[in-house]
Amino acid sequence: MNSGIDDILKKSIQCIKGVAEKRSKLFHKLGIFSVYDLITFFPRGYEDRSKLKKISQMVNGEECTFEGIVMSKVSEKRIRKGLTLYQVFIKDDTGTVIATWFNQPFVKKLFYVGERYIFYGKVTGKYKYFEVSNPVYEKVENGEFKNTMRILPVYSSTAGLSQNTIRAVMENALELVDGALDDFLPYWIRKEYRLCDINYAFSNIHFPRSEEDLNYARYRLVFEELFILQLGLLSIKTALGDGKEGICFGTHEKELAHFISGLGFELTNAQKRVWKEIEIDMESNRVMNRLVQGDVGSGKTVIAALALLKAVKSGYQGIMMVPTEILAKQHFETLCALMEKSGVTLSLLVGSQTAKQKKEILSRIEAGEVDIVIGTHALLEDNVKFYRLGLVITDEQHRFGVRQRAVLSGKGENPDVLVMTATPIPRTLALILYGDLDISIIDELPSGRKPIKTYVVDNSMRERVNKFIRKNVSEGRQVYIVCPLVEESDAIEAKSALELAEKIAKEDFKDLRVGLVHGKMSSSEKDKVMQSFADGEIDILVSTTVIEVGINVPNATVMVIENAERFGLAQLHQLRGRVGRGGYQSYCILYNESKSKIAIERMKVMENSTDGFVISEKDLEIRGPGEFFGTRQHGLPELKIANLYRDMDILKKAQKAAAEILRRDRLLCEEENIKLKEKIVEKFKEKLKDISLN
Ligand code: ADP
Ligand code: MG
Repeated sequence: MNSGIDDILKKSIQCIKGVAEKRSKLFHKLGIFSVYDLITFFPRGYEDRSKLKKISQMVNGEECTFEGIVMSKVSEKRIRKGLTLYQVFIKDDTGTVIATWFNQPFVKKLFYVGERYIFYGKVTGKYKYFEVSNPVYEKVENGEFKNTMRILPVYSSTAGLSQNTIRAVMENALELVDGALDDFLPYWIRKEYRLCDINYAFSNIHFPRSEEDLNYARYRLVFEELFILQLGLLSIKTALGDGKEGICFGTHEKELAHFISGLGFELTNAQKRVWKEIEIDMESNRVMNRLVQGDVGSGKTVIAALALLKAVKSGYQGIMMVPTEILAKQHFETLCALMEKSGVTLSLLVGSQTAKQKKEILSRIEAGEVDIVIGTHALLEDNVKFYRLGLVITDEQHRFGVRQRAVLSGKGENPDVLVMTATPIPRTLALILYGDLDISIIDELPSGRKPIKTYVVDNSMRERVNKFIRKNVSEGRQVYIVCPLVEESDAIEAKSALELAEKIAKEDFKDLRVGLVHGKMSSSEKDKVMQSFADGEIDILVSTTVIEVGINVPNATVMVIENAERFGLAQLHQLRGRVGRGGYQSYCILYNESKSKIAIERMKVMENSTDGFVISEKDLEIRGPGEFFGTRQHGLPELKIANLYRDMDILKKAQKAAAEILRRDRLLCEEENIKLKEKIVEKFKEKLKDISLN
């Protein structure tokens, strides 16, 4: 063990040659405080100055490195006040170029005829000769090249910090640690996955000796980052009770078969498969932590009902928590209807109930007189106590954190946990984002659904669209119109979205029953309008916020989205899923005012596909993962070098390696894994803090 290096890595960057107080403040702006921060400040790109070109091979507009002999004395040309050019002719055996510096009189004393230099700079070729402006130069005779003849890193920077400064400081920092960095990856992993040594990786990611070395270095560092991410998530899973002794629920084959036969439809193959996976988990003595991912309308509620029923028949209580009151009410009604003949008692628990109502429900839950409780965040409160809680389900889990799940679990003794989400995420990414859960995917919609027809339009079509809306309303159907805000906090946007919504409500359709929901309304006001829409008392629901996820109004057949280009595709898909829930042909109309190629391409995806997984995959491809995870609430450590989309192959390897190492040493407590474990704990401190309360 080399503890000295750990101390150095923790030291302030001021211990590095070339960093005094003033400069250290600039580095702080980049989030760099310690030596470790600095060496893990990876380049955002590179300039390859390593390949020499002949003058005859130069291309107009390109940066290039070339070797040449000084042919002339430096000439001085005053163009105007404040602008003087210093020029010198350079040649090699294939041609001649002019090197020009602006306002740098010192170059006059620098270059002498006959001397040999390496130059690097951008070449332009307007006249007879190519010209290179303000080139970097290094004398061949000295035999030492710092700024030419190599691949140089380019860093994200801030005003006052030049690339040259960052490079110089980085070199000093690397000198300080070079050769001393401890490789925390066990040797067999490095060998099996052909990962280079850690010191080699750091030195070559910053100052690669060649493109090949850079690739090796990057591969190692990306692998390492994703490997730690994966291991951290898997450890969280362990901490959350994976493998912990849990409840063995009974099979109750007869009752469940009876329930299924009473549904009035056959389960899809995907539903059957997912239900099987859940049953195995529930019957085993391990605690279940499972995510059910299924597109809108894929039938997740029935699966939840089956799991709840199995728990109740085994003598336990179950919870289903959802993000909003209106959803809670809907689920409550759906589940009551589904379980009517099963002899199960259900209760609803939401914030708007009176203290008296709540008190009564709470005491019944505690006494075990209620089997299933459906509710909102109200369920999290301390005074909600259970008689014998066995199953916790959360719907639309992206609204809830790990912490809330843990609070619910704490109300029973290692109850099984099921998390439902309609947010479609490509499987490999789901493994990362939900790495602490096992995953089941319902990748099939019940047959007989009419696919929603989607049209992308612009403002010139408004008349026709409005006519179309009227036609649907006159046939008794209902319509959603969504006017998005980019950011809730953006005052200007908020105003224009609200104005548009009001115009639609008060001018375009003033003769129809129009309901308006906007961000400034209280949630009970919003709920009231939504409820009357659900009850059919409103024809058109105009909203400036995103309509609640999961709300079910089968009679609604048209979804109009203003400024659709502002939404993520996954979000558009979710919104579109609000219609097409009944037997009627449904439509989605996307207003797009953007002429950008990307926007048009993204809208095309919506027109051409109704598969949430395909759509999210495309979205990821077009926009890249940075934006895809723009509003991530997953609390994962920041990725400094890996790119979840581009590095998918490495991700797969890292996932395989993580599974392998845990198979050998489940808790990572063997000698060879100790340092690795420290690293994981360090990276996941934030997220682990949330969990230890369990
Ligand atoms: P989501 O996955 O979006 O929560 P729901 O569970 O609300 O979807 O199901 C949508 C609709 O499809 C409901 O009306 C439900 O009764 C119906 N449904 C569920 N499974 C099937 C099936 N296998 N065949 C036909 N209809 C089904
Ligand atoms: Mg649902």
